[in-house]
Amino acid sequence: MTQVTILGAGMAGFGAAHRLHHEAVESVIFEQHPYHGGHTASHRYGQGFLFDEGPHVSFTKVERIQELFAASVQQRYQTLTTRVDNHWKGHWIKHPVQCNLYGLPTDLVVEILKDFIQAQQSEPGEIRNYADWLIASFGRTFAETFPMEYGLKYHTTTADNMTTEWVGPRLYQANLEEVLRGALTPSTPDVHYISHFRYPTHGGFVSYLDPFLEQTTLRLAHRVTRIDPARKTLRFANGSESRYEHLVSSLPLPELVPMLVDAPAEVVAAAERLACTEAVIVNLGIGRPEVHDAHWTYFYDRDYFFTRMSTPHLQSPNNVPPGCSSLQVECYYSKKYRPLDRRPEDCIEPVLRDLRRCGLLHEDDEILLAEAMHVPYANVIFDLDRPEALATVHGYLDELGIAYCGRYGEWGYIWTDQAFMSGENAAQKVLDRLTSGSVA
Ligand SMILES: Cc1cc2nc3c(=O)[nH]c(=O)nc-3n(C[C@H](O)[C@H](O)[C@H](O)COP(=O)(O)OP(=O)(O)OC[C@H]3O[C@@H](n4cnc5c(N)ncnc54)[C@H](O)[C@@H]3O)c2cc1C
Repeated sequence: MTQVTILGAGMAGFGAAHRLHHEAVESVIFEQHPYHGGHTASHRYGQGFLFDEGPHVSFTKVERIQELFAASVQQRYQTLTTRVDNHWKGHWIKHPVQCNLYGLPTDLVVEILKDFIQAQQSEPGEIRNYADWLIASFGRTFAETFPMEYGLKYHTTTADNMTTEWVGPRLYQANLEEVLRGALTPSTPDVHYISHFRYPTHGGFVSYLDPFLEQTTLRLAHRVTRIDPARKTLRFANGSESRYEHLVSSLPLPELVPMLVDAPAEVVAAAERLACTEAVIVNLGIGRPEVHDAHWTYFYDRDYFFTRMSTPHLQSPNNVPPGCSSLQVECYYSKKYRPLDRRPEDCIEPVLRDLRRCGLLHEDDEILLAEAMHVPYANVIFDLDRPEALATVHGYLDELGIAYCGRYGEWGYIWTDQAFMSGENAAQKVLDRLTSGSVA
Protein backbone atom coordinates (compact mmCIF):
# COMPACT_ATOMS: atom_id res chain seq x y z
CA MET A 1 0.00 0.00 0.00
CA THR A 2 1.38 3.42 -0.99
CA GLN A 3 2.21 5.82 1.80
CA VAL A 4 3.09 9.46 1.33
CA THR A 5 5.46 11.13 3.80
CA ILE A 6 4.65 14.71 4.75
CA LEU A 7 7.04 17.04 6.58
CA GLY A 8 5.45 19.59 8.92
CA ALA A 9 2.15 19.45 10.84
CA GLY A 10 0.80 22.90 10.00
CA MET A 11 -2.06 23.90 7.72
CA ALA A 12 -0.18 22.81 4.60
CA GLY A 13 0.80 19.41 6.02
CA PHE A 14 -2.79 18.69 7.04
CA GLY A 15 -4.09 19.99 3.69
CA ALA A 16 -1.86 17.43 1.98
CA ALA A 17 -2.98 14.63 4.32
CA HIS A 18 -6.63 15.58 3.79
CA ARG A 19 -6.34 15.37 -0.01
CA LEU A 20 -4.59 11.99 0.22
CA HIS A 21 -7.14 10.66 2.71
CA HIS A 22 -9.90 11.59 0.26
CA GLU A 23 -8.24 9.30 -2.30
CA ALA A 24 -7.70 6.57 0.32
CA VAL A 25 -3.93 7.05 0.21
CA GLU A 26 -2.17 6.72 3.57
CA SER A 27 0.10 9.43 4.89
CA VAL A 28 2.45 10.01 7.79
CA ILE A 29 3.36 13.49 9.02
CA PHE A 30 6.68 14.15 10.78
CA GLU A 31 6.69 17.27 12.95
CA GLN A 32 9.55 18.72 14.98
CA HIS A 33 7.44 20.02 17.85
CA PRO A 34 5.68 17.90 20.46
CA TYR A 35 2.40 19.53 19.33
CA HIS A 36 0.69 20.02 15.96
CA GLY A 37 -0.56 23.15 14.19
CA GLY A 38 2.64 24.90 13.13
CA HIS A 39 1.87 28.61 13.00
CA THR A 40 -1.74 27.87 13.82
CA ALA A 41 -0.91 26.20 17.14
CA SER A 42 -2.76 27.62 20.13
CA HIS A 43 -1.16 27.71 23.56
CA ARG A 44 -3.10 27.55 26.81
CA TYR A 45 -1.53 29.02 29.94
CA GLY A 46 -2.27 27.99 33.50
CA GLN A 47 -4.04 31.23 34.38
CA GLY A 48 -6.77 30.51 31.79
CA PHE A 49 -5.36 32.62 28.97
CA LEU A 50 -5.12 31.22 25.45
CA PHE A 51 -2.85 32.66 22.75
CA ASP A 52 -2.29 31.65 19.14
CA GLU A 53 1.16 32.12 17.56
CA GLY A 54 0.44 35.67 16.49
CA PRO A 55 -3.10 36.83 15.73
CA HIS A 56 -4.89 34.17 13.68
CA VAL A 57 -8.34 34.80 12.26
CA SER A 58 -10.00 33.11 9.30
CA PHE A 59 -11.09 35.44 6.52
CA THR A 60 -11.06 33.02 3.61
CA LYS A 61 -13.36 33.85 0.72
CA VAL A 62 -13.21 30.25 -0.54
CA GLU A 63 -16.60 28.73 0.30
CA ARG A 64 -15.31 25.14 0.36
CA ILE A 65 -12.69 26.07 2.98
CA GLN A 66 -15.21 28.15 4.94
CA GLU A 67 -17.48 25.11 5.12
CA LEU A 68 -14.65 22.71 5.89
CA PHE A 69 -13.36 24.83 8.77
CA ALA A 70 -16.87 25.50 10.09
CA ALA A 71 -17.58 21.74 10.11
CA SER A 72 -14.20 21.16 11.82
CA VAL A 73 -15.37 23.07 14.88
CA GLN A 74 -18.95 21.74 14.64
CA GLN A 75 -20.15 25.22 13.58
CA ARG A 76 -18.90 26.61 16.90
CA TYR A 77 -17.27 29.81 15.68
CA GLN A 78 -18.15 33.46 15.80
CA THR A 79 -18.17 35.89 12.91
CA LEU A 80 -16.86 39.31 13.82
CA THR A 81 -16.79 42.62 11.99
CA THR A 82 -13.17 43.65 11.77
CA ARG A 83 -12.05 46.75 13.66
CA VAL A 84 -8.54 47.94 12.84
CA ASP A 85 -6.74 51.09 13.90
CA ASN A 86 -3.32 52.73 13.72
CA HIS A 87 -1.10 54.51 16.21
CA TRP A 88 1.12 57.31 14.89
CA LYS A 89 2.82 60.01 16.98
CA GLY A 90 0.17 59.85 19.69
CA HIS A 91 -2.81 59.78 17.26
CA TRP A 92 -5.18 56.82 17.12
CA ILE A 93 -6.28 56.64 13.49
CA LYS A 94 -8.92 54.40 11.94
CA HIS A 95 -7.62 52.08 9.20
CA PRO A 96 -6.65 52.73 6.45
CA VAL A 97 -4.92 55.98 7.36
CA GLN A 98 -5.21 57.47 3.88
CA CYS A 99 -9.01 57.46 4.13
CA ASN A 100 -8.96 58.80 7.71
CA LEU A 101 -6.68 61.83 7.76
CA TYR A 102 -9.12 63.91 9.85
CA GLY A 103 -7.45 65.25 12.99
CA LEU A 104 -3.85 64.85 11.79
CA PRO A 105 -1.62 67.97 11.67
CA THR A 106 -2.98 70.39 9.06
CA ASP A 107 0.33 70.92 7.24
CA LEU A 108 0.78 67.19 6.88
CA VAL A 109 -2.75 66.67 5.57
CA VAL A 110 -2.29 69.48 3.02
CA GLU A 111 0.98 67.96 1.77
CA ILE A 112 -0.57 64.49 1.59
CA LEU A 113 -3.54 65.79 -0.42
CA LYS A 114 -1.36 67.85 -2.79
CA ASP A 115 0.95 64.90 -3.46
CA PHE A 116 -1.91 62.46 -3.85
CA ILE A 117 -3.69 64.66 -6.41
CA GLN A 118 -0.43 65.14 -8.29
CA ALA A 119 0.25 61.38 -8.28
CA GLN A 120 -3.27 60.72 -9.58
CA GLN A 121 -2.82 63.19 -12.42
CA SER A 122 0.67 62.12 -13.54
CA GLU A 123 1.63 59.22 -15.74
CA PRO A 124 3.27 56.69 -13.39
CA GLY A 125 6.97 56.32 -14.12
CA GLU A 126 8.68 52.94 -14.21
CA ILE A 127 7.76 50.88 -11.13
CA ARG A 128 11.05 49.19 -10.20
CA ASN A 129 10.20 48.35 -6.60
CA TYR A 130 7.70 48.74 -3.75
CA ALA A 131 8.87 52.31 -3.01
CA ASP A 132 8.10 53.41 -6.58
CA TRP A 133 4.71 51.72 -6.34
CA LEU A 134 3.86 53.42 -3.03
CA ILE A 135 4.78 56.87 -4.32
CA ALA A 136 2.86 56.38 -7.58
CA SER A 137 -0.21 55.06 -5.72
CA PHE A 138 -0.37 57.38 -2.70
CA GLY A 139 1.88 60.38 -3.38
CA ARG A 140 5.30 60.88 -1.81
CA THR A 141 4.32 62.46 1.53
CA PHE A 142 1.84 59.77 2.50
CA ALA A 143 4.08 56.97 1.20
CA GLU A 144 7.09 58.18 3.17
CA THR A 145 5.19 59.02 6.36
CA PHE A 146 3.05 55.90 6.68
CA PRO A 147 3.51 52.71 4.60
CA MET A 148 7.27 53.08 4.19
CA GLU A 149 7.72 53.62 7.93
CA TYR A 150 5.44 50.72 8.82
CA GLY A 151 7.01 48.54 6.14
CA LEU A 152 10.47 49.09 7.53
CA LYS A 153 9.30 47.88 10.94
CA TYR A 154 7.28 44.95 9.57
CA HIS A 155 9.47 43.71 6.70
CA THR A 156 12.77 44.86 8.31
CA THR A 157 14.01 46.23 4.99
CA THR A 158 13.38 49.36 2.97
CA ALA A 159 10.66 49.63 0.33
CA ASP A 160 13.20 50.22 -2.45
CA ASN A 161 14.61 46.74 -1.70
CA MET A 162 11.25 45.04 -2.21
CA THR A 163 9.18 43.83 -5.14
CA THR A 164 5.41 44.38 -5.34
CA GLU A 165 3.87 41.02 -6.26
CA TRP A 166 2.82 40.39 -2.64
CA VAL A 167 0.77 43.60 -2.30
CA GLY A 168 -2.59 42.47 -3.78
CA PRO A 169 -5.49 43.86 -1.70
CA ARG A 170 -3.29 44.33 1.38
CA LEU A 171 -2.93 48.07 0.81
CA TYR A 172 -6.23 49.76 0.10
CA GLN A 173 -6.10 52.11 -2.89
CA ALA A 174 -8.54 54.90 -2.18
CA ASN A 175 -9.98 57.26 -4.78
CA LEU A 176 -9.78 61.04 -4.40
CA GLU A 177 -13.29 61.37 -3.02
CA GLU A 178 -12.61 58.84 -0.24
CA VAL A 179 -9.38 60.61 0.69
CA LEU A 180 -11.01 64.06 0.73
CA ARG A 181 -14.03 62.90 2.75
CA GLY A 182 -11.72 61.20 5.25
CA ALA A 183 -9.74 64.42 5.62
CA LEU A 184 -12.87 66.47 6.28
CA THR A 185 -14.93 64.21 8.51
CA PRO A 186 -14.21 61.76 11.35
CA SER A 187 -16.89 59.34 10.20
CA THR A 188 -15.89 57.14 7.26
CA PRO A 189 -17.00 53.76 5.86
CA ASP A 190 -15.07 50.57 6.72
CA VAL A 191 -12.93 49.55 3.77
CA HIS A 192 -10.47 47.07 5.25
CA TYR A 193 -9.88 44.12 2.92
CA ILE A 194 -10.74 41.82 5.80
CA SER A 195 -14.27 43.08 6.53
CA HIS A 196 -15.28 40.07 8.64
CA PHE A 197 -13.51 37.11 10.13
CA ARG A 198 -14.32 33.88 11.86
CA TYR A 199 -12.71 32.48 14.98
CA PRO A 200 -13.51 29.26 16.88
CA THR A 201 -15.54 29.83 20.02
CA HIS A 202 -13.43 27.38 22.02
CA GLY A 203 -9.88 26.04 21.84
CA GLY A 204 -8.21 28.72 19.71
CA PHE A 205 -7.43 28.70 16.01
CA VAL A 206 -5.84 25.24 16.11
CA SER A 207 -9.32 23.74 16.65
CA TYR A 208 -9.86 24.09 12.91
CA LEU A 209 -7.41 21.21 12.50
CA ASP A 210 -9.09 18.79 14.96
CA PRO A 211 -10.86 16.44 12.52
CA PHE A 212 -7.82 16.15 10.25
CA LEU A 213 -5.84 14.45 13.01
CA GLU A 214 -7.73 11.24 12.26
CA GLN A 215 -6.89 11.34 8.57
CA THR A 216 -3.17 10.70 8.94
CA THR A 217 -0.51 9.24 11.21
CA LEU A 218 1.13 12.00 13.19
CA ARG A 219 4.70 11.54 14.43
CA LEU A 220 5.42 14.46 16.77
CA ALA A 221 8.87 15.36 18.16
CA HIS A 222 10.51 14.21 14.92
CA ARG A 223 12.76 17.00 13.69
CA VAL A 224 14.13 16.11 10.28
CA THR A 225 17.86 16.78 10.05
CA ARG A 226 18.91 14.97 6.87
CA ILE A 227 17.19 13.90 3.68
CA ASP A 228 18.86 11.57 1.22
CA PRO A 229 16.89 11.82 -2.02
CA ALA A 230 18.91 9.04 -3.69
CA ARG A 231 18.30 6.48 -0.93
CA LYS A 232 14.93 8.03 -0.05
CA THR A 233 15.67 8.18 3.64
CA LEU A 234 15.03 10.71 6.39
CA ARG A 235 17.06 11.14 9.53
CA PHE A 236 15.68 12.78 12.66
CA ALA A 237 17.25 14.67 15.56
CA ASN A 238 15.99 11.98 17.93
CA GLY A 239 18.31 9.48 16.20
CA SER A 240 15.66 7.56 14.27
CA GLU A 241 15.51 7.05 10.51
CA SER A 242 12.71 6.41 8.10
CA ARG A 243 12.35 5.50 4.44
CA TYR A 244 9.92 7.31 2.18
CA GLU A 245 8.36 6.62 -1.19
CA HIS A 246 6.90 10.03 -1.94
CA LEU A 247 7.75 13.24 -0.12
CA VAL A 248 5.69 16.38 0.48
CA SER A 249 7.46 19.13 2.43
CA SER A 250 6.09 22.24 4.10
CA LEU A 251 9.43 22.98 5.79
CA PRO A 252 10.97 26.43 5.32
CA LEU A 253 13.18 26.26 2.22
CA PRO A 254 16.27 27.66 4.01
CA GLU A 255 15.93 24.72 6.45
CA LEU A 256 15.08 22.09 3.85
CA VAL A 257 17.82 22.68 1.30
CA PRO A 258 20.87 22.26 3.60
CA MET A 259 19.42 18.92 4.77
CA LEU A 260 19.45 17.50 1.24
CA VAL A 261 22.41 15.22 0.72
CA ASP A 262 24.49 16.35 -2.29
CA ALA A 263 22.53 19.56 -2.90
CA PRO A 264 24.59 21.65 -5.38
CA ALA A 265 26.43 24.61 -3.86
CA GLU A 266 24.51 27.15 -5.97
CA VAL A 267 21.18 25.79 -4.70
CA VAL A 268 22.38 25.97 -1.08
CA ALA A 269 23.58 29.55 -1.72
CA ALA A 270 20.22 30.46 -3.28
CA ALA A 271 18.36 29.09 -0.24
CA GLU A 272 20.58 31.24 1.99
CA ARG A 273 19.51 34.34 0.06
CA LEU A 274 15.83 33.76 0.83
CA ALA A 275 14.86 36.23 3.55
CA CYS A 276 12.14 35.95 6.15
CA THR A 277 11.21 37.89 9.23
CA GLU A 278 11.32 36.27 12.63
CA ALA A 279 9.03 37.49 15.37
CA VAL A 280 9.08 37.81 19.10
CA ILE A 281 5.49 37.68 20.23
CA VAL A 282 4.74 39.02 23.67
CA ASN A 283 1.54 37.68 25.24
CA LEU A 284 0.01 39.67 28.07
CA GLY A 285 -2.90 38.78 30.34
CA ILE A 286 -4.46 41.81 31.99
CA GLY A 287 -6.71 41.88 35.02
CA ARG A 288 -9.39 44.16 33.60
CA PRO A 289 -11.83 43.83 30.69
CA GLU A 290 -11.76 45.67 27.34
CA VAL A 291 -8.26 47.05 27.36
CA HIS A 292 -8.68 48.08 23.71
CA ASP A 293 -11.54 47.84 21.21
CA ALA A 294 -9.71 47.17 17.90
CA HIS A 295 -8.93 43.62 16.79
CA TRP A 296 -5.48 44.76 15.71
CA THR A 297 -3.45 47.98 15.65
CA TYR A 298 -0.49 49.03 13.52
CA PHE A 299 2.27 51.03 15.23
CA TYR A 300 4.30 53.27 12.90
CA ASP A 301 6.79 55.12 15.11
CA ARG A 302 10.31 53.76 15.02
CA ASP A 303 10.77 54.47 18.72
CA TYR A 304 7.90 52.12 19.58
CA PHE A 305 9.44 48.75 20.27
CA PHE A 306 6.74 46.73 18.55
CA THR A 307 5.00 46.76 15.18
CA ARG A 308 1.53 45.32 15.62
CA MET A 309 -0.77 44.53 18.51
CA SER A 310 -3.91 42.43 18.72
CA THR A 311 -6.56 41.57 21.29
CA PRO A 312 -7.19 37.81 21.62
CA HIS A 313 -10.03 38.37 24.13
CA LEU A 314 -12.01 40.02 21.32
CA GLN A 315 -11.50 37.03 19.02
CA SER A 316 -13.22 34.81 21.59
CA PRO A 317 -14.18 35.65 25.19
CA ASN A 318 -13.04 32.11 26.02
CA ASN A 319 -9.44 33.11 25.34
CA VAL A 320 -9.31 34.85 28.74
CA PRO A 321 -10.59 34.21 32.27
CA PRO A 322 -13.77 36.15 33.19
CA GLY A 323 -13.22 39.90 33.74
CA CYS A 324 -9.82 39.89 31.99
CA SER A 325 -8.45 40.91 28.62
CA SER A 326 -5.33 40.08 26.66
CA LEU A 327 -2.88 41.77 24.34
CA GLN A 328 -0.58 40.12 21.86
CA VAL A 329 2.29 42.22 20.61
CA GLU A 330 4.55 41.46 17.62
CA CYS A 331 8.19 42.61 17.34
CA TYR A 332 9.93 41.84 14.05
CA TYR A 333 13.52 40.93 13.23
CA SER A 334 15.26 39.11 10.39
CA LYS A 335 18.56 37.29 10.08
CA LYS A 336 19.35 39.15 6.87
CA TYR A 337 18.33 42.71 7.76
CA ARG A 338 17.72 43.14 11.49
CA PRO A 339 19.18 40.30 13.56
CA LEU A 340 17.45 39.56 16.84
CA ASP A 341 19.72 41.23 19.37
CA ARG A 342 18.27 39.97 22.65
CA ARG A 343 16.60 37.02 24.31
CA PRO A 344 12.85 36.87 23.53
CA GLU A 345 11.99 37.38 27.22
CA ASP A 346 13.99 40.63 27.15
CA CYS A 347 11.36 42.08 24.82
CA ILE A 348 8.70 42.00 27.55
CA GLU A 349 9.90 45.08 29.48
CA PRO A 350 10.16 47.46 26.47
CA VAL A 351 6.78 46.23 25.24
CA LEU A 352 5.16 46.98 28.61
CA ARG A 353 6.90 50.39 28.68
CA ASP A 354 5.51 51.40 25.28
CA LEU A 355 2.03 50.04 25.97
CA ARG A 356 1.97 52.34 29.00
CA ARG A 357 3.43 55.21 26.94
CA CYS A 358 0.57 55.10 24.44
CA GLY A 359 -1.99 54.78 27.23
CA LEU A 360 -3.21 51.25 26.51
CA LEU A 361 -1.91 49.95 29.81
CA HIS A 362 -2.39 51.85 33.02
CA GLU A 363 0.29 52.06 35.72
CA ASP A 364 -1.95 50.18 38.14
CA ASP A 365 -2.98 47.43 35.69
CA GLU A 366 -2.56 43.95 37.04
CA ILE A 367 -0.39 42.00 34.58
CA LEU A 368 -1.45 38.42 35.25
CA LEU A 369 0.67 36.89 32.51
CA ALA A 370 3.66 38.07 30.50
CA GLU A 371 5.27 35.53 28.17
CA ALA A 372 7.43 35.83 25.07
CA MET A 373 7.28 33.38 22.14
CA HIS A 374 9.95 33.18 19.49
CA VAL A 375 8.69 32.51 15.95
CA PRO A 376 11.77 31.83 13.78
CA TYR A 377 9.84 32.07 10.47
CA ALA A 378 7.15 34.74 10.27
CA ASN A 379 6.68 36.66 7.00
CA VAL A 380 8.56 35.98 3.79
CA ILE A 381 10.42 39.13 2.74
CA PHE A 382 9.84 39.94 -0.91
CA ASP A 383 13.25 41.49 -1.37
CA LEU A 384 14.89 41.91 -4.75
CA ASP A 385 16.92 38.68 -4.26
CA ARG A 386 13.82 36.52 -3.87
CA PRO A 387 12.64 35.83 -7.46
CA GLU A 388 15.90 34.42 -8.80
CA ALA A 389 16.88 32.56 -5.62
CA LEU A 390 13.42 31.00 -5.35
CA ALA A 391 13.41 29.84 -8.97
CA THR A 392 16.75 28.08 -8.37
CA VAL A 393 15.54 26.33 -5.21
CA HIS A 394 12.13 25.32 -6.59
CA GLY A 395 13.75 24.10 -9.82
CA TYR A 396 16.02 21.78 -7.84
CA LEU A 397 13.18 20.41 -5.69
CA ASP A 398 11.17 19.76 -8.86
CA GLU A 399 14.14 17.79 -10.24
CA LEU A 400 14.20 15.71 -7.05
CA GLY A 401 10.43 15.17 -7.15
CA ILE A 402 9.92 16.71 -3.69
CA ALA A 403 6.51 18.39 -3.64
CA TYR A 404 6.85 21.63 -1.65
CA CYS A 405 3.92 23.48 -0.15
CA GLY A 406 2.74 26.00 2.42
CA ARG A 407 3.89 29.47 3.30
CA TYR A 408 7.52 28.46 3.66
CA GLY A 409 7.62 25.80 0.95
CA GLU A 410 6.08 28.06 -1.66
CA TRP A 411 7.92 30.93 0.02
CA GLY A 412 4.93 33.24 -0.40
CA TYR A 413 2.77 35.64 1.60
CA ILE A 414 -0.07 33.17 2.00
CA TRP A 415 -2.77 32.77 4.62
CA THR A 416 -4.06 29.67 6.41
CA ASP A 417 -6.63 28.77 3.76
CA GLN A 418 -4.05 29.16 1.00
CA ALA A 419 -1.52 27.09 2.98
CA PHE A 420 -4.10 24.31 3.39
CA MET A 421 -4.92 24.39 -0.34
CA SER A 422 -1.22 24.53 -1.19
CA GLY A 423 -0.84 21.26 0.76
CA GLU A 424 -3.77 19.79 -1.16
CA ASN A 425 -2.13 20.80 -4.45
CA ALA A 426 1.20 19.26 -3.47
CA ALA A 427 -0.60 16.02 -2.59
CA GLN A 428 -2.37 16.17 -5.94
CA LYS A 429 1.01 16.31 -7.68
CA VAL A 430 1.96 13.08 -5.93
CA LEU A 431 -1.38 11.51 -6.80
CA ASP A 432 -0.90 12.49 -10.45
CA ARG A 433 2.51 10.82 -10.43
CA LEU A 434 1.03 7.69 -8.88
CA THR A 435 -1.67 7.57 -11.52
CA SER A 436 0.75 8.10 -14.38
CA GLY A 437 3.13 5.57 -12.87
CA SER A 438 6.10 7.95 -13.09
CA VAL A 439 8.59 7.88 -10.25
CA ALA A 440 10.78 10.93 -9.75
C1 LIG B 1 2.26 36.59 13.02
C2 LIG B 1 1.42 35.87 12.00
C3 LIG B 1 0.05 36.12 11.94
C4 LIG B 1 -0.74 35.48 10.99
N1 LIG B 1 -2.08 35.72 10.96
C5 LIG B 1 -2.88 35.05 10.11
C6 LIG B 1 -4.29 35.24 10.11
O1 LIG B 1 -4.84 36.02 10.88
N2 LIG B 1 -5.03 34.50 9.24
C7 LIG B 1 -4.48 33.63 8.37
O2 LIG B 1 -5.22 32.99 7.61
N3 LIG B 1 -3.14 33.43 8.32
C8 LIG B 1 -2.33 34.12 9.18
N4 LIG B 1 -0.97 33.92 9.16
C9 LIG B 1 -0.39 33.00 8.15
C10 LIG B 1 -0.52 31.55 8.58
O3 LIG B 1 0.07 31.37 9.85
C11 LIG B 1 0.21 30.66 7.58
O4 LIG B 1 -0.19 30.91 6.27
C12 LIG B 1 0.00 29.17 7.83
O5 LIG B 1 -0.19 28.85 9.17
C13 LIG B 1 1.22 28.45 7.28
O6 LIG B 1 1.05 27.07 7.42
P1 LIG B 1 2.17 26.09 6.87
O7 LIG B 1 1.71 24.73 7.15
O8 LIG B 1 2.48 26.48 5.49
O9 LIG B 1 3.47 26.45 7.72
P2 LIG B 1 3.77 26.13 9.26
O10 LIG B 1 2.56 26.36 10.07
O11 LIG B 1 5.00 26.85 9.61
O12 LIG B 1 4.05 24.57 9.25
C14 LIG B 1 5.33 24.05 8.99
C15 LIG B 1 5.62 23.00 10.04
O13 LIG B 1 6.89 22.43 9.77
C16 LIG B 1 7.50 22.16 11.02
N5 LIG B 1 8.93 22.01 10.82
C17 LIG B 1 9.85 22.97 10.51
N6 LIG B 1 11.07 22.45 10.42
C18 LIG B 1 10.96 21.12 10.68
C19 LIG B 1 11.87 20.04 10.71
N7 LIG B 1 13.18 20.21 10.48
N8 LIG B 1 11.38 18.80 10.98
C20 LIG B 1 10.04 18.60 11.21
N9 LIG B 1 9.15 19.60 11.21
C21 LIG B 1 9.59 20.84 10.93
C22 LIG B 1 7.15 23.36 11.86
O14 LIG B 1 7.30 23.12 13.24
C23 LIG B 1 5.69 23.58 11.46
O15 LIG B 1 4.81 22.87 12.29
C24 LIG B 1 -0.14 34.58 10.07
C25 LIG B 1 1.24 34.32 10.13
C26 LIG B 1 2.01 34.97 11.07
C27 LIG B 1 3.48 34.68 11.11
